[in-house]
Amino acid sequence: MDDSWFLEKHTPYAGLTLAIKKKLYEAKSPFQRIEVLDTFEYGRMLLLDGYVMLTDRDEFIYHEMIVHPALLTHARPERVLIIGGGDGGSVREVLRHPTVEAVHLVEIDRMVIETSREFFPAVSGKLDDARVEVRVADGFDQVENGGERYDVILVDSIDPQGEAAKLFSAPFYGHARRCLREGGIFVCQTESPFYNGDVVRGVCEKLRGLYAHVAPYLAHIPTYPSGLWSFSFASDRVDPQVAKPRAEDGFLDALKYYSPEVHGAAFVTPRYMGR
Ligand code: SAM
Repeated sequence: MDDSWFLEKHTPYAGLTLAIKKKLYEAKSPFQRIEVLDTFEYGRMLLLDGYVMLTDRDEFIYHEMIVHPALLTHARPERVLIIGGGDGGSVREVLRHPTVEAVHLVEIDRMVIETSREFFPAVSGKLDDARVEVRVADGFDQVENGGERYDVILVDSIDPQGEAAKLFSAPFYGHARRCLREGGIFVCQTESPFYNGDVVRGVCEKLRGLYAHVAPYLAHIPTYPSGLWSFSFASDRVDPQVAKPRAEDGFLDALKYYSPEVHGAAFVTPRYMGR
């Protein structure tokens, strides 16, 4: 395939292709290859090791859906921990919630943060908010050694490989559980249920050993493998399939994907995903 097309293989026999306008940036960090491409269909696109992390056109879907189901069902979210998420999109959505007083962003790769600041201002624009503390560190160490506790923990990581593999492990989930306050909620991105059903099932199984309520939920993200993405929600107090999201009229109308109706539908999963 010539340089004017981008290809990401989702399986050895299937993938995503996008026509490229221009390559805007490429660098190697201590952890991964970082690229920014400008595309005709999806605008600018952030790649890590050749995998799509976000595009200008559909990033809102991922970021609204990793944040709002948890923060709108938690009684009063004040302290939020985001592991990964160096692009800043999850931070942007968390700061929409008026009760939030502190957001700790723990991203292992400083260059991802800097790249997003330069090329994705609409995504990274809230990283300098006074309520935000950016820590360049390993998320596993943060929960293993950190004495801080949170109302909501969001794991906005890459696929379970490299430094992120441990963020899908039972020891990580155990440490994170201890960092949650009473009534806290844990959410992590869990890959494509169509191509990686074993990942979401495996994660939910591990979380069921720690929490009373665990459920996967879905969102349609066009540039992610199979276009269907999953997240896993866990809490001792909040049952996501029963809890009604708070009617936060301050910002709900500003959202482009999430709504209380979409929330309900997202937790209805197809038979092939199993429990
Ligand atoms: N939405 C994207 C997705 O689902 O593929 C994820 C976006 S975000 C850019 C993922 C971030 O997780 C990357 O910047 C990566 O450097 C970071 N990351 C990977 N392993 C990590 C770890 N152990 N601790 C903290 N951040 C980590």
